[in-house]
Amino acid sequence: PRIPGGESHVQCGDWLTSHLRKRADKVWEQQFTYQEKKQSGKIYPGRNIIASFNLNPKRNFRILLCAHWDTRPWADKDANPEFHSQPILGANDGASGVAVLLEMANILQSHPLEFGVDIILFDLEDLGDYGAEESSSDTLTPFSIGATYFIENAPKTYRPTFGVLVDMVGDANLNIPQERFSYEYAGDIVEKVWRTAREIGANAFLSQLGPYISDDHLPFLKRGIKVIDLIDFDYPYWHTTHDTPDKCSPESLQQVGDVLVNFLYQY
Ligand code: ZN
Repeated sequence: PRIPGGESHVQCGDWLTSHLRKRADKVWEQQFTYQEKKQSGKIYPGRNIIASFNLNPKRNFRILLCAHWDTRPWADKDANPEFHSQPILGANDGASGVAVLLEMANILQSHPLEFGVDIILFDLEDLGDYGAEESSSDTLTPFSIGATYFIENAPKTYRPTFGVLVDMVGDANLNIPQERFSYEYAGDIVEKVWRTAREIGANAFLSQLGPYISDDHLPFLKRGIKVIDLIDFDYPYWHTTHDTPDKCSPESLQQVGDVLVNFLYQY
C-alpha cells in the first residue's frame, strides 16, 4: 500500500522519483500537506512527481500524461466489514496507470518527440469521502487533492495542449468506455484517441459513452484544460482488499500503452 504518511509511501515516492530521473530531462516534486476534514483531522503529506521530456521542443507545445500513485487507506467497499479499515493494495487503482506511464518514460527517452511531454504522478487522489464532489460539502474530504493542488499552484503559463489521465486500466477484463466529463469537455480529444484505438484494433476501447467519473482530470477541465480520463470503472474489486495483481493483466496495460504511443507519435 502507498498510503500517504506511511513508510511504504515514502519508499515508493523515492523510487518513482529516482527511476524517472534516469529517463526524463527534468524531474521535480511538489510537496504539500492536506488536513482531513472529518474524523481525526489527520494531516497527510503529499508529493506530486513531475517528469518533463523535451524542455525546449522544436514544436512549441506540451502534452500531459498523468496517473495517481497513492492508494486508499481503507478497503471500505470490501464485502467483509472487518476489512473496511485495512488499506487497499491498489494493483489496478493506482499502480496500473503508473505502470503504463513508467513504460512511456522509457519510450519517450529512447525515441524523443518534437514536442514536450510531462508525466505527472499525482498523490492524494484516493482519500476522498464518497459524495464529496456532488455535495461540495465543507465537512467531506474530496478526491483528487494532489491534482487540484498541482493546477492551483502550477505557473499560470502551464497550459498543456491536452492531457490524458490513465486510471484503473489494468483490469484483466478491460473495457474503457468514453468517460462522460471527458466527452463533454474535451470531446475532440476523446474522438482522436478512440480513432487511434480503432486503427490499431485496441478493442478494450468501447465506442460508447460511460458514466461521469470524478477523477484527477476534473480540476483541469474546470480550468479549461482538456484532460481526458481513460478509466474502466466497472471493476468489482474497487476499494476492496482484492484489488491485487492477479486481477490485472499485462495485455490490458499493453493495449492502453499502445494507444498512447500510436496517438502521440502520429500527433
Ligand atoms: Zn480509488
